[in-house]
Amino acid sequence: MHHIENDLHYTGLSVAQGIASPPAVNPYLKKRKHRHEFTAAEYIEQILKGNITVLSQAVTLVESQKNEHQALAQEVIEKCLPYSGHSVRIGITGVPGAGKSTSIDVFGMHLIRDRGKKLAVLAIDPSSERSKGSILGDKTRMEDISREPSAFIRPSPSAGSLGGVARKTHETIILCEAAGFDTVFVETVGVGQSETAVHSMVDFFLLIQVPGTGDELQGIKRGIMEMADGIIVNKADGTNIDRANLSAAQYRNALHLFPLPPSGWSPKVLTYSAKNKTGITEIWDMVYEYIAFVKENGYFNSNHHSQAKFWMYSSINEQLKNHFYHSSEIEKELKIKEQQVLNAEISSFMAAKQMLDLYFRQKS
Ligand code: GDP
Repeated sequence: MHHIENDLHYTGLSVAQGIASPPAVNPYLKKRKHRHEFTAAEYIEQILKGNITVLSQAVTLVESQKNEHQALAQEVIEKCLPYSGHSVRIGITGVPGAGKSTSIDVFGMHLIRDRGKKLAVLAIDPSSERSKGSILGDKTRMEDISREPSAFIRPSPSAGSLGGVARKTHETIILCEAAGFDTVFVETVGVGQSETAVHSMVDFFLLIQVPGTGDELQGIKRGIMEMADGIIVNKADGTNIDRANLSAAQYRNALHLFPLPPSGWSPKVLTYSAKNKTGITEIWDMVYEYIAFVKENGYFNSNHHSQAKFWMYSSINEQLKNHFYHSSEIEKELKIKEQQVLNAEISSFMAAKQMLDLYFRQKS
């Protein structure tokens, strides 16, 4: 074959003659073994040994949308259940900029280095679907603990509804506990609905605030304050110290107006600085004081029971809803009914009843 590249006047690279062109597909590739797919028993064995790589893979299964992954994940979770429930689970919330990542890094180092804990950091961030990639639980935000072998950091599951994302995080907690993590953080942004979900899976709910001008609640809804077992005012450093103390006093006053929560524990308010690492020990003394208190009065266990019940019903609701809305006939008919409701041809209640009748007729 004539190649112009090999002509005398051509100054570029020449084409080697006489070498057969290699096949497009490397013949050895086919012989390479696929990555070993673990069975449920193998997952469990490795998780119980504290194998972080396998734990990570199991969490990926939990987060997968594929049915076969879900089935395997459920088997693994079920077998891990007897080994779960023994950690201290802490929900951490606060508006963006309050200092959640800085604090988690500092808290994590304190717990690992000074209290010998093994820490898993998870997150619930339902907005991550839109932003394609979670802003919470990102390793680069927690530089110190991300280098610690005793820390496991996992960003928020990204796809799906808040209910779905929260369920996956709840299941991930179980896997982490089976892998020997005795402390679990669940982080969330304190601006939406996700706090309620986090509250339903933790033992202690920590609200991070920053010194404000005094009278505003920094975008934190009253309901979130009511859920808090501890409010910690961050950035109590430099010229902020007085304002931090003032904010803390105001939160204490505000908390007095709320009824005593079912735990019987009066929420405490503390100030600290994540930047200067001051007031950190006091925060964790408070958390462990609470844990001892609720273990003593039985609330620790009764709360776990009501949380387990809550998640059962929440899963039923989620699956019923998914099944209903993903049925193709329902989808078609919904559009028609919607229009009829808009045209005032049928009442909203009647339309809903007819849709449900159709759904249950299909099922029977
Ligand atoms: P997040 O959005 O809640 O995760 O907040 P970050 O941890 O990213 O912190 C937001 C900003 O507050 C960053 O610029 C931090 O450096 C700063 N910050 C965090 N903790 C402190 C603190 O204790 N004191 C001061 N002065 N700044 C802090």
